[in-house]
Amino acid sequence: MKNTTNRRNFLKLGLASVIGITVGKELLVKPAHASDLPHLTEDDPQAKALQYVHQAADSDKHCGNCALIQGNDGDEWRPCAIFPGKAVNTNGWCSAWVKKP
Ligand code: SF4
Repeated sequence: MKNTTNRRNFLKLGLASVIGITVGKELLVKPAHASDLPHLTEDDPQAKALQYVHQAADSDKHCGNCALIQGNDGDEWRPCAIFPGKAVNTNGWCSAWVKKP
């Protein structure tokens, strides 16, 4: 009985260690830099659905002053919460535009 309990505890500890190492490695991997992301194209189906363009028609409403833009100010291409895994042009616009507070 004692041997079974010890074996179970050993297996649980081993499994927990494997999970901990796996999750830990994932957390240590640096997030992709904006410059590594492919640029969103205007003919991308999701971009088309949201009428994304690289150059906004209204100079007061563009990706650079949208609340959904991410990354660093000053970068020409930046990540956007609406288009994960792609970078949008800071001069662009789409119909999901929300004024940055
Ligand atoms: S939601 Fe649209 S307007 Fe706002 S940053 Fe993303 S692509 Fe640009």
